[in-house]
Amino acid sequence: MPPVPANPCTRCGACCASFRVDFAREELEDEGGCVPAGLAVEINETLCRMRGTDHAAPRCAALVGTVGVDAHCGIYEWRPSPCREFGLRAPMGVGDDACTRARSRHGLPPL
Ligand code: SF4
Ligand code: SF4
Repeated sequence: MPPVPANPCTRCGACCASFRVDFAREELEDEGGCVPAGLAVEINETLCRMRGTDHAAPRCAALVGTVGVDAHCGIYEWRPSPCREFGLRAPMGVGDDACTRARSRHGLPPL
């Protein structure tokens, strides 16, 4: 059997240090969801944002490690829906336009 290709996301993390991540309050653990509340900031009555993702140099507070070297989501099982839908830290987003933009921002080549 051929070897299973390595998931480039396990070394990258560029999208977690490039884009704002907003999600519904109901996804917070203290609202019945699973996203740790301490890693999010309240935006308004209905929306929250992953802490750090709207900074001038964005970096999600849940991102662990060094972008482009060895980075991973510290709350992978509990990450909010935008991360699942867009494919942040998941193979389905690898190589798409947003992935390429994020990687370029961190000096990494497209996939
Ligand atoms: S989706 Fe792209 S930018 Fe995001 S971690 Fe994976 S390879 Fe990096
Ligand atoms: S919650 Fe995880 S997957 Fe989502 S932006 Fe933060 S580090 Fe990336």
